[in-house]
Amino acid sequence: MTLKPNESSIELAERLGAMARVCEVVQSTQLSASVREVVLGGPATVLTGVAGSDVMIQVENSAGKLVRRRYSVRAADHDLDRFTLWITTGHDGPGSAWARHASPGDHVDVIGPRGKITLDEAADWHLFVGDSTGLAAFYRLAQSIEAPGRAIFIVEIDHPDDALTADFAEGLGVTGIFVDRQSRLRNDAAGLLSGLAAFAFPPDVGHAYLFGEFTTLKAVRFALLDRGLDEGAISVKAHWRTGRDNADHGEPDKSEP
Ligand SMILES: Cc1cc2nc3c(=O)[nH]c(=O)nc-3n(C[C@H](O)[C@H](O)[C@H](O)COP(=O)(O)OP(=O)(O)OC[C@H]3O[C@@H](n4cnc5c(N)ncnc54)[C@H](O)[C@@H]3O)c2cc1C
Repeated sequence: MTLKPNESSIELAERLGAMARVCEVVQSTQLSASVREVVLGGPATVLTGVAGSDVMIQVENSAGKLVRRRYSVRAADHDLDRFTLWITTGHDGPGSAWARHASPGDHVDVIGPRGKITLDEAADWHLFVGDSTGLAAFYRLAQSIEAPGRAIFIVEIDHPDDALTADFAEGLGVTGIFVDRQSRLRNDAAGLLSGLAAFAFPPDVGHAYLFGEFTTLKAVRFALLDRGLDEGAISVKAHWRTGRDNADHGEPDKSEP
């Protein structure tokens, strides 16, 4: 029997030009201290878009209200009609709680594909900077780079085992710098900036993708501009913001200060 998504999911998907489906949790595995892998069964071809796309899932917050949270697609299996999300679980929030408790057989409303950032096919090297929330998108994007090309990852992590890796096409040059957060605040960009300082830009055309904490990414973007990267060669998507819940539709609060 095919389950029908909530009316609100169907209406929102229509407004967004996306699709709404009920998906079933197929597998749920803690990969590291902060990252949980949730595999959802559902029409991957319809929901998962291209490398860089994300899906919105509907979860319940602690007050019993239905809200949405967005997660990048880590991988899609079109033959088996399932797709994989990597969800951070090291904090308290409705998205993280849903992932921690997700069990095979659970159902969830999913809207997808979402997102506008895709791989810059014209770039020779691709620089991925952010935190654990960016890993799914970083790796799916990098796995879509055609060899020869270069992928550089600078990712700040909370625990040594959050340094999750992936397999890439033969002939792809891959550099990974995992920066230990130590006792720094989550909106302190010092760790990522030091990782960035250790990396010399190759001479040819590059593109940077910044996914992670709102305030941190702002500082990283300025650092990249200072180092001469063009504005158009920097794609930024804030995934969350320190001290503030994401809004009910899944976006972080971008108001100042
Ligand atoms: C386009 C897009 C793609 C995303 N892709 C992914 C993804 O692939 N994987 C992923 O894990 N997340 C991803 N996110 C981020 C995820 O949707 C947010 O982290 C979300 O806010 C978590 O929701 P929550 O309900 O657990 O916490 P919220 O209710 O948003 O926040 C609760 C509290 O936890 C804090 N908090 C939120 N996230 C973190 C964190 N990561 N570390 C420490 N503290 C945090 C907040 O500051 C707040 O104080 C994405 C976000 C967007 C917009």
